[in-house]
Amino acid sequence: MSASIGRIAVFGGGGFIGSHLTRRLLANGYHLDVVDISSEKIGDVLGHDRLQFHELDIYEPENDAACAAIVERSDLVVDLIAYANPEQYVAMPLEVVDLNLFQNLKIVEDCIEAETRLIQFSTCEVYGMLGNRTGDDTVFDEDTSNLIMGPVGNQRWIYATAKQLLERMVYAHGERDGLDWTIVRPFNFIGPEMDYIIESPDEGTPRVFASFMSALMYDHPMFLVDGGKNMRTFTHIEDAIDALELIIENEGGRYTREVVNIGTPGNETTIRGFADLMRDIYREESPDGRLPPMREVDGEEYYGEGYEDCDRRIPGVDKLREAGWTPRYDLRATLENAMRYYIDKYELERAPSPALSD
Ligand code: UDP
Repeated sequence: MSASIGRIAVFGGGGFIGSHLTRRLLANGYHLDVVDISSEKIGDVLGHDRLQFHELDIYEPENDAACAAIVERSDLVVDLIAYANPEQYVAMPLEVVDLNLFQNLKIVEDCIEAETRLIQFSTCEVYGMLGNRTGDDTVFDEDTSNLIMGPVGNQRWIYATAKQLLERMVYAHGERDGLDWTIVRPFNFIGPEMDYIIESPDEGTPRVFASFMSALMYDHPMFLVDGGKNMRTFTHIEDAIDALELIIENEGGRYTREVVNIGTPGNETTIRGFADLMRDIYREESPDGRLPPMREVDGEEYYGEGYEDCDRRIPGVDKLREAGWTPRYDLRATLENAMRYYIDKYELERAPSPALSD
């Protein structure tokens, strides 16, 4: 625990990353204000005496004063609020910009006003189409890489564009107003309680881990978008939270006014390879070991018109390594751990009802 930080406000602390962060920060002794529209994923810590949960929607102007007061009394704000699912980028692009840029700027302004340090979550997607699976092994560097977006008609990029503008405005507020900031670019974090589980494909399109986990448990096809040839580096949520802890502690101010990638470069795989590995693990770990079919699907057919993919993205993580960070989970261990959680949680629910005896 950092000596200079007592109270932290976690905006979006009820989401996937936020819920894991909230639990870790409580374990580390901090006092927390958590702001979210839902507390479902942090139900286990809601009664904690160092946690105040505020069920608030930052969209509503009537909540502006409450949010400002929370920022005012905090030593640090972590802002995770965002629409962050590719399905949303093409289905509701204007809402994505409104929340991810305009509504978040209110929190940035509160931090300037209160002189509170801000850790602003962005996305690895700001690098856009920089990575090329057929080219060299370009490692994404926070300070020197170009950010390359697709055409306007390919609406997937509206998310990355909104986040990029938010980053640029946070930076500019640092220069002009002295805002004390760190920007975090996460690379495909996975773990328990990620997104949501669907019982059938018409219930939505969660991100790839939750999507494949749903398919395995509820026996519907695993869809390989565009053949599953694109590549990602996956990070276990606990490794991500370890990195965040270092950023929060900010020893010697090493992360002040820095953009920081959080990712595990060694955990790279094609999406097809990811599906195969999940199938191997499921066969070993699940109660019945049965496997659903795999089906190739076109990206626009799966997500809607305007979807375009990132081929490949490898994070440069020198800024974390220099502070002593090393990931604990390789890809298999990441998946085994995350899948075990779901298998245990849903085993009972999915177990066939006992035969009626007469
Ligand atoms: N994907 C897939 N099947 C699914 C969900 C996703 O093949 O059921 C692909 C998707 O097209 C992308 C990759 O998996 O190439 C990662 O997608 P995700 O939604 O997890 O997030 P992203 O990394 O694109 O932000």
